Amino acid sequence: MKNLFMKVSLFLVAIVLVISSIGLSPTSAAVPFKDILSTDKEIIYLYDRGMIKGTSATTFSPDASVTREQAAVMIGRAFNFNSTPRKTSFTDVKSSSYSSGYIQEAVNRGIITGYGDGTFKPLQTMTRGEMAFLLSRAFNLTKTGNVFFTDIKVDTASTSLYTAVNKIATFGISNGTGTGTYAPNEDLNRRQFAAFLARGLNPNYRVVFQNASIDTLYVTVDSLNVRTGPSTGYTAVGKLNTGAKFTVYGYNGVWAYGTSGTISGYVHSSYLSKAVVSAEKRYIAIDAGHGGTDPGAVANGLREKDVNLDVAKRVEAYLKTKGISVYMTRSTDKTIALDQRVPLAVKSGANAFVSIHANSATPAASGSETFYSAALDENAIHSKQLATFIQNRLYKAMSHNNRGVKEAPYLVLRTNPMPAALVELGFLTNSSDAYKLSTVYYKDRAASAIASGIDDYYKWKANN
Ligand SMILES: [Zn+2]
Repeated sequence: MKNLFMKVSLFLVAIVLVISSIGLSPTSAAVPFKDILSTDKEIIYLYDRGMIKGTSATTFSPDASVTREQAAVMIGRAFNFNSTPRKTSFTDVKSSSYSSGYIQEAVNRGIITGYGDGTFKPLQTMTRGEMAFLLSRAFNLTKTGNVFFTDIKVDTASTSLYTAVNKIATFGISNGTGTGTYAPNEDLNRRQFAAFLARGLNPNYRVVFQNASIDTLYVTVDSLNVRTGPSTGYTAVGKLNTGAKFTVYGYNGVWAYGTSGTISGYVHSSYLSKAVVSAEKRYIAIDAGHGGTDPGAVANGLREKDVNLDVAKRVEAYLKTKGISVYMTRSTDKTIALDQRVPLAVKSGANAFVSIHANSATPAASGSETFYSAALDENAIHSKQLATFIQNRLYKAMSHNNRGVKEAPYLVLRTNPMPAALVELGFLTNSSDAYKLSTVYYKDRAASAIASGIDDYYKWKANN
């Protein structure tokens, strides 16, 4: 007991400061310990005001960890708590303990809480995460900001670790480790404790929180909204165009927070790519519908997956002769889940998407039609143009009934971050359409028309 008291009393001061003296500006006092630096201004500040002592007459032991009891006592002294030892809420903090008054007062003020089993674990070292909770309550911090650490998941619950760390970072108490992490489970050492406490007490020591860059990505669409928060409900503060560089600081779900030039805010991460997509680049994803275990429509001796793939490969060949780069979601008869097709295309770096299908209905229905989706504002005009350019050539090449350009919420369209169209070549259930789609002549004409429609689109895009 005596030993513990000695140890603690060496570290902590007995002087209780009046709060009014706390706002003094930093002084340039001499460095009081041989193991700290002149840059340890926060330690010197607390020492000068009698709020902190060394571990000996000449040492501070800045790298030694801080126990939970020591932290509570130090906070209590800084805030001028009633230190009278008393009965506490915890089974492991006796009323005779020198720290019992500070600990109980901190409990009463809602600054500290113990463990679920009724203990406080006074001799356990304090972690950086625990310190965030303690300081956010001690200084009554309420304001949060756009704070991201790669080792703490964003969680807006008021009692979460993230929220506590966000509050102390926003207030200027901590910038994390400097490498984009906060290290919440690491022990807090005496140097860090002093820095955090001094910054909380005196604005002159506060740091301006800076997120660390965790990724550099590129915008894949034009007129992408940058918003003040992570949903479309937040105000747009600017717009970015294709190819703009976006420095990412963190993610809140699917929303990326970062900066591009002078604009800071949130953008939907599906419009960001690792690859630079220049506005001029002509790179399209061609998606042959169905495949593998999914045959699609089957009628008149034809399987949709075979027709789609045959035409898609012909489209690819025609596009290449026009200097348009092509990503094929499949080039063989393989199974690809419907919800994987758009992610694959996004990953490829393509900047437009065309899915190729054939229709089925009653035998009388015939002709070609092309779909797009206006679900994503950013692409609605481009998607409709792409669908229109293709449809206008396709039905003529097929000598088909023109069923037109239509809006439909197909998954590969409505979830697509790039301009996208879905082509229905004709009806396998109609004998005339099916006959055409069984011939190389018409499949090749359809492919040539689709490729020319895509070329039309890119030429239009270059001027729009
Ligand atoms: Zn289909």
